[in-house]
Amino acid sequence: MKMIARQDCQTLDQQDQLAASRDEFSIADGLIYLDGNSLGAMPRQALSQAYQTVEQQWGLGLIQSWNDAGWFDLPYKLGDSVAGLIGAAPSEVVVTDSTSVNLYKALAAALQLRPDRKVVLLESSNFPTNNYITQGLLAQLNPDYTIRYAEADGIEAAINDEVAAVCLTQVHYRTGRLLDMASITEKTHCVGAISIWDLCHSAGALEVELNACGVDFAIGCTYKYLNGGPGSPAYIFMASRHHNQVQQPLTGWWGHAEPFAFERDYRPTPGIGQMLSGTQPIVSLALVNVGLEIFKQVDLSVLRSKSIALGQLLIDLVEQRCSSYGFDLISPENAEQRGSHVSFAHENGYPIMKALINAGVVGDFRAPDTVRFGIAPLYLRYTDIWDAVEILSQIMATGTWQNETSEYSDSPDPGSGRQVTRVT
Ligand SMILES: *Cc1c(COP(=O)(O)O)cnc(C)c1O
Repeated sequence: MKMIARQDCQTLDQQDQLAASRDEFSIADGLIYLDGNSLGAMPRQALSQAYQTVEQQWGLGLIQSWNDAGWFDLPYKLGDSVAGLIGAAPSEVVVTDSTSVNLYKALAAALQLRPDRKVVLLESSNFPTNNYITQGLLAQLNPDYTIRYAEADGIEAAINDEVAAVCLTQVHYRTGRLLDMASITEKTHCVGAISIWDLCHSAGALEVELNACGVDFAIGCTYKYLNGGPGSPAYIFMASRHHNQVQQPLTGWWGHAEPFAFERDYRPTPGIGQMLSGTQPIVSLALVNVGLEIFKQVDLSVLRSKSIALGQLLIDLVEQRCSSYGFDLISPENAEQRGSHVSFAHENGYPIMKALINAGVVGDFRAPDTVRFGIAPLYLRYTDIWDAVEILSQIMATGTWQNETSEYSDSPDPGSGRQVTRVT
């Protein structure tokens, strides 16, 4: 393969149809942010939206803002926007609660549709919260339930007519492997089971086609590729054919047919609204809209092409410039089977990532040995990838990573202590 030069990357940046969307984000000078799959960058408009929500709507509008500023309708309005990114119809999605809580609701609803079956299929190496929530729900429901854990390669083979629900994450949080939603959902339905997909690492980075694949339920967060802000509320999708067929268990007043009738007994509101439980964190919810607005100008197939190109560039550059340093690609080599992040295993992954972060290249580390680079195509440039690998090769060549402690500390940010000065 021809050696890739920085000049080649500059040319790609000049031709990039999405180049202008970087201006929508506030990213510190000199920072190369390869962690948008963990916490998306801040849209510039987030600050003015925060002022408007806090100062105007809360400060001045007070209680009237529930109606005047549309607070009450926000979960629906935002759900309509998310629907456009995941191949759903507008009335099939609401933005509310966390992904973990929404999984609880979706799985409980799914199991009601298959009362005679007692097996839930999960992928053993899925992001832990998905397994933990399932374990908690099943323990509460009925001791007869069991979880069948499949490995990535054995998922379709493990789906049979004992299975009530198949709950998978489309893009694996560690490896970036992209599952075939269409064929797995088809197999799921063939045996009469219900499909639930977690879209945390796919929505906002690639085209998701929930209805074209016939998916029953889906969940996902808004703070990764959708850039909704730290801990921003998640979304839940329920195919319209199931509306009014099930009853999720967190039957709070926001899901009631007439919340302000203050009736003694619960009556679900028809449609997706029954997935709501209680009052939402409005300040955070309002910021989700800012991230979603940016996507309204974006063609998702262009986004996906850029994500693939950036990911491939990273893989090729690491191979060209760092091949002697012991990085093992653990993401699929085939771009069609890869989501939007690239991971390598390295025995010194933790101190290497710390050194990278101290040098302004922010990726992340997942124990025991994975260094992970998120590719957020809305704000990353080809030259960012080139510069990141240049810095990585310097860190490896000079051995500066050995100055970092190799003692792993269990924190979401292995680079804590890094000084960020100017945010523009
Ligand atoms: C990020 C992520 C979550 C996050 O769940 P929270 O409830 O927001 O903490 C869940 N599942 C997967 C697969 C994720 O990647």
